[in-house]
Amino acid sequence: MNLLILGLFIATLNKITSRYLARVPKTLTLTCLPAAVLLLAGCSGAQAASVARDENRDAILVAATIPVLADLARNVGGSLVEVSSAVPPGVDAHSYQTTPSNSVTISRAALTISNGSGLDDFLLPIFQSARPGGAVHVVASDGLESQFPASEPVISLGADPHFWQNPIFAIHYVEQIRDGLIQADPGNAARYEKQAQRYIASLRQLDENIAGLLDQVPPNRRILVTHHQAFSHLAARYGWQTMALAPGDAGSVTPESILQVSQKIKDAGLSSVFVEPRFRSSALDQVARDARAKVSAIYAGLGGEATTYVEMMQFNARSLADNLR
Ligand SMILES: [Zn+2]
Repeated sequence: MNLLILGLFIATLNKITSRYLARVPKTLTLTCLPAAVLLLAGCSGAQAASVARDENRDAILVAATIPVLADLARNVGGSLVEVSSAVPPGVDAHSYQTTPSNSVTISRAALTISNGSGLDDFLLPIFQSARPGGAVHVVASDGLESQFPASEPVISLGADPHFWQNPIFAIHYVEQIRDGLIQADPGNAARYEKQAQRYIASLRQLDENIAGLLDQVPPNRRILVTHHQAFSHLAARYGWQTMALAPGDAGSVTPESILQVSQKIKDAGLSSVFVEPRFRSSALDQVARDARAKVSAIYAGLGGEATTYVEMMQFNARSLADNLR
């Protein structure tokens, strides 16, 4: 069957039974579908009985736009949630094309999570149309965007929506997600509170660890040069400067930005610039060659060595400390 039709069918079905379906594990929904499509009826008694023995029976389904939000939700939700991300790890979120299977996943979610601040707005139409009627939606950066604009770059590159690059802002995301989970699944409020508290404590520790690593870099070399403006909140948190060739939405590189960034690398005598390994930038490679600087790895989102949010942040701090000191 055409997946799109299947998606629309599930979306309609969910409008009626969203609360129920959101609590049903993926395996059940998928095995039940042929029967549901043919008979417009629920699952057979035998399948329902096997599900009753499933220890994950009560997991609610959470659909996030990007992998970093999915990872934060997994840490807050633990075994109470089954989380997916519309954009897969290692894929460029700024230019992602949605697929029909994204609609199917979103149509079964009790909670949906987006970043906001312009990063994933292009995904909102599919989230809005596929989301079940009773589902809760959380915009993780709500409350941050007006309060904390990006740190002052040398070239104006517009707003930077990658707030999670500051662990203190990631804690704000976690609190938003915790509140969304409690709203979607109030019966488990105490467990979400407790799990969020534990994870927030580990993020505070992460913040201290990053500060310790970045302190190893001499103050005159605390300049983070990247391809797109994704690290201004990281830079601002630890008192660094940041420069990028492309804006926060990963738009185009201008000749003006190339000249200014090149000059800055030479003036500061930087030994390295930074780029996401999967998104090599020929413009940044050229700038680095001209300035005799190397190109080292950094992650704006999850993928490659950055398997979780905490792994990503530790990797980035180590890479900055190792390549600039
Ligand atoms: Zn980005």
